[in-house]
Amino acid sequence: MKFDPSVKIHDYLVFGEFGDVNPSITDSSTFTFLSTDKMKEMFEHEIEGCFLYSRHWNPINKYLSGALARFEDTESAQVAASGMGAINCVVMQICSTGDEIISSHTIYGGTYALFKNFLPRFGINVKFIDMTDLGALKKAVTKKTKMIYCETISNPLLEIADIHAISKIAKENNVKLVIDNTFAPMIVSPKRLGADVVIHSMTKYINGTSDCVAGCICSDNDFIASINDVNSGASMLLGAVLDSFRAASILKNLHSLHLRMQKHSKNAAYFAEQFKKLGLPTYYPGFTEHKQHKLLKSIMNEGFGFGGMVAVDIKDEDKANKFMMMMQDERVGYLAVSLGYFKTLFSSPSHSTSSEIPEEQQAKIGLGKGLVRFSVGLDNNIEESFGRVEKCLKKLSII
Ligand code: PLP
Repeated sequence: MKFDPSVKIHDYLVFGEFGDVNPSITDSSTFTFLSTDKMKEMFEHEIEGCFLYSRHWNPINKYLSGALARFEDTESAQVAASGMGAINCVVMQICSTGDEIISSHTIYGGTYALFKNFLPRFGINVKFIDMTDLGALKKAVTKKTKMIYCETISNPLLEIADIHAISKIAKENNVKLVIDNTFAPMIVSPKRLGADVVIHSMTKYINGTSDCVAGCICSDNDFIASINDVNSGASMLLGAVLDSFRAASILKNLHSLHLRMQKHSKNAAYFAEQFKKLGLPTYYPGFTEHKQHKLLKSIMNEGFGFGGMVAVDIKDEDKANKFMMMMQDERVGYLAVSLGYFKTLFSSPSHSTSSEIPEEQQAKIGLGKGLVRFSVGLDNNIEESFGRVEKCLKKLSII
């Protein structure tokens, strides 16, 4: 992200022989070698500027990965076929049978299901804790712990992880800290706060057009080299590689991320303030009364706001469902999971993106059945949009 004037443009460019301003889309699964010696060498170690096979690397995936590494301020990065593909790759690279992961209990439902139901089949045990309780984290670490996992801004309750403090505990115990930064691109830079690996579901804000699933892993050179190792790398051997056509389109969208995040955050702040004024219990990290507001202020990058997510508790499941259907009819946005789209999306996490979390656990972490999560869009006239939300709330006697 930092501009380094000593680095010449030619050091960055790996394209442009024909004057194209966007790098060419790699349309090859395999690459020719001019000598058998080079081919042999390439199987032994990577050679700058040489490509072997598209599941390993290809020029456009490398180009997008380079941009993501600069964006997250890590030495290197690798792209993946989905956010879950990225998470699985990292887990499989770091953990083996008998190892333990300590995870926040408020994470995306798919990750929760992977950790709770799938990994134990391979002898990897996950302890779920309240990651805002650093004492609980310290107690949970054992000799078997290999990874600490949480989201910068958690899904869907919008809790903030104290990445700096968590990373100290991770380092003291020689454990890798893996942060899912999907909800907070531009806003927080986890690597600068001590994270070892930063993951994104690029399906969300980074791509921003809800037309594909994709993921990325940003880390140091050694880690990215390890996942790409032809003999032992989880990216290479599990094969959740991003298609090169998608890599090209995501790269173009990445360039407007800073502007989109500013607008998402501005519009979400407006929605949150209005919900609060109407007396509805509202989850939004931009509120001074939010439990980790001060923490977020202390770690966030200036100028990108508090993110585009807001959750509001309607308290009544039936009314929440009617509210969402009415908002869709009123063209507020779409009743759909996911986030980071240019239109507003809303869903009830309890029955969708967090449904994998058992009911008792949902109740324990404060995830009510009437909770409605908004990914606020890029609407030009957000006041007018909220007017339609208010109309729905009134019609259903919620306010
Ligand atoms: N991480 C978070 C925070 C998510 O919200 C999601 C999906 O909703 C994922 C990871 C998984 O990403 P994908 O759907 O791209 O596999």
